[in-house]
Amino acid sequence: MNGFHVRQMSVLVQNVGQFTGIEKKMNKKICPKCKVIKPFYEFSKDRIHKDGLFRICKKCDSLKHKQYHQKNKEKLNKKTQQWRKKHPEYNKQYYLKNIQYYKQWEKGHYQKRQIQHKLWYQINLDKVKIQKKQYRQKNEEKIKEIYRNDRNRRRLLYKQKTDITTQWLINLKRNTPYCALCNVKLVENGHHPNARHLDHIIPLNKQCKGTHTMNNVRFICRTCNLSRPKNGKDYVFQETGAARG
Ligand SMILES: [Zn+2]
Ligand SMILES: [Zn+2]
Repeated sequence: MNGFHVRQMSVLVQNVGQFTGIEKKMNKKICPKCKVIKPFYEFSKDRIHKDGLFRICKKCDSLKHKQYHQKNKEKLNKKTQQWRKKHPEYNKQYYLKNIQYYKQWEKGHYQKRQIQHKLWYQINLDKVKIQKKQYRQKNEEKIKEIYRNDRNRRRLLYKQKTDITTQWLINLKRNTPYCALCNVKLVENGHHPNARHLDHIIPLNKQCKGTHTMNNVRFICRTCNLSRPKNGKDYVFQETGAARG
């Protein structure tokens, strides 16, 4: 027998000596704090004790830590603040050292949040609908004014010199049965996700200064139109039938 075997045997004998209660035969142990019989994996390891397990279960241990934190909140916060004052560059340097890890974490976290948000939205759809309706009823005048202003602004922009004629627009409509961005079949119904929207490749707002002209106009679906950024930065990357002027 080599040393390893001897040690193993002695451990076995020791354990057999300790197996007195029924719960120990089942690989279980009583937590003296919450007084619940729990399997061994619910205790953290601790070499000091005979059975190699911590005195109280993981749950009770974490609860203890939490209570300690809450009791000594101000003290601990002061301590960390003092430490930060003493080492002002530590956090920055730590961040720079592990920047790749943080970036990856942020990416994953963002995706997770998006999925959670979508799920929440699906579950609380009725709630959201009611809230939106209430908001609309409360702020009816406000919303109307916003719409009015937007329409007036657009009308003014349309009136600026344009080379688009109604006949040309009708022809364009006939020639583009599909969305110029995602190729979905366009529908002549305003609220349908595939509804036909007249899109200005460079938006008409003040910052972008797009024009209502032949080379800045195309038909896309409602979904694509609503998902476009307001600064119109995406038009550079999209291949479209209309050319930039
Ligand atoms: Zn416990
Ligand atoms: Zn589309």
